[in-house]
Amino acid sequence: MKIHEHQAKQILDKFDVPVPRGQECFSIDEAVAIAQKLGGSVWVVKAQIHAGGRGKGGGVKVARSIEDVKNFSKQILGMQLKTHQTGPSGQKVGRLLVEEGVEIAQEYYLGIVVDRVTQKVCIMGSSEGGMEIEKVAEESPDKIHKVFIDPSQGLEQAQGLELLENIGIPKEALPEGEKILQNLYQCYWACDASLTEINPLVLTKNGTIIALDAKMNFDDNAMGRQEVIKNMRDLAEEDQAEIEASKHDLSYIALDGNIGCLVNGAGLAMATMDTIKLFGAEPANFLDVGGGATPEKVTEAFKLMLKNPNLKAILVNIFGGIMQCDVIASGVVVAAKQVDLSVPLVVRMKGTNEDLGKQILADSGLPIISADNMSDAAQKVVHAIRG
Ligand code: GDP
Ligand code: MN
Repeated sequence: MKIHEHQAKQILDKFDVPVPRGQECFSIDEAVAIAQKLGGSVWVVKAQIHAGGRGKGGGVKVARSIEDVKNFSKQILGMQLKTHQTGPSGQKVGRLLVEEGVEIAQEYYLGIVVDRVTQKVCIMGSSEGGMEIEKVAEESPDKIHKVFIDPSQGLEQAQGLELLENIGIPKEALPEGEKILQNLYQCYWACDASLTEINPLVLTKNGTIIALDAKMNFDDNAMGRQEVIKNMRDLAEEDQAEIEASKHDLSYIALDGNIGCLVNGAGLAMATMDTIKLFGAEPANFLDVGGGATPEKVTEAFKLMLKNPNLKAILVNIFGGIMQCDVIASGVVVAAKQVDLSVPLVVRMKGTNEDLGKQILADSGLPIISADNMSDAAQKVVHAIRG
């Protein structure tokens, strides 16, 4: 689960990680009122969307007058913000964060993630703050420093100091930096975060350290014990099809291609997508209808896939183990009739009651393309989109 920057900063503040004073809002008038209340002479108006790279896309502006705050809020609020993380259509900005401006002397990067290879928490730091860390990792990996945390020991002081020294935090700021890093780690741990990223962490002209940006992702499976964080969920930021899918207990992930996939079982769904790619096309989605798919569930799955404007064809790939092929075939026929299927449909089914299932499809009168095995199915569906 993801949250907004202003929410991440509220959490960091509770763990004594310094963040700029500020408040979120939903209108230009509110933005102006917040700036006036904050006082000072420099403010930052920031788009709140669940994606990074907002600065480059015009979603972060430094304002030097109240008039600026008003104009920037007007520009940003409601804009379709495009960044390298939003995809080509961008994300509509529905809320802003208005903060006091900070005088930057130096920008750094700090990130905490789980390293799956060592099965430890990894803290990453870099002197190249404010940039896309993916780019730094590619172009100058030597500028990324890592420490791995033994879960029974926690972050040791010496480890923290070494990391901060490596990324170039000046000597005078090291004790404060180490305390902040310790708090950041506590925060990550206590909140069941899967990612905590401060980019940039800033050394101010006064020599203090502050988190100028904040991103936190969380382990969905831990949200049962994270009531406060769970309530920070913003459904407007999530893929609408994925929300709809979760209501029907379907595992659905939207993708960029044009071949819809309806499969039972996550492993088979992955293999189906691989096979489609092998024959030169791209899947429009991952969709696992689960082991006990009913005709109703299959119908909902069809409706979901058909909402995608890029969809050009559908591939149904079913292995009848516990699930019986005739049941899924009936589901497919009912669904195809109900949704007024407008794209080619290829079905491959194997297993329990396979012959009965194939008979049901053949008798339905629907223009269903039947396939014998996975490679046959993938080739037929790829052929169908190429015409
Ligand atoms: P992102 O582009 O989505 O990662 O948004 P950030 O919050 O990281 O902001 C992008 C950039 O805006 C930062 O790297 C800073 O250079 C700049 N910025 C953000 N806040 C301030 C501020 O208070 N003062 C100044 N001078 N620059 C800021
Ligand atoms: Mn940033």
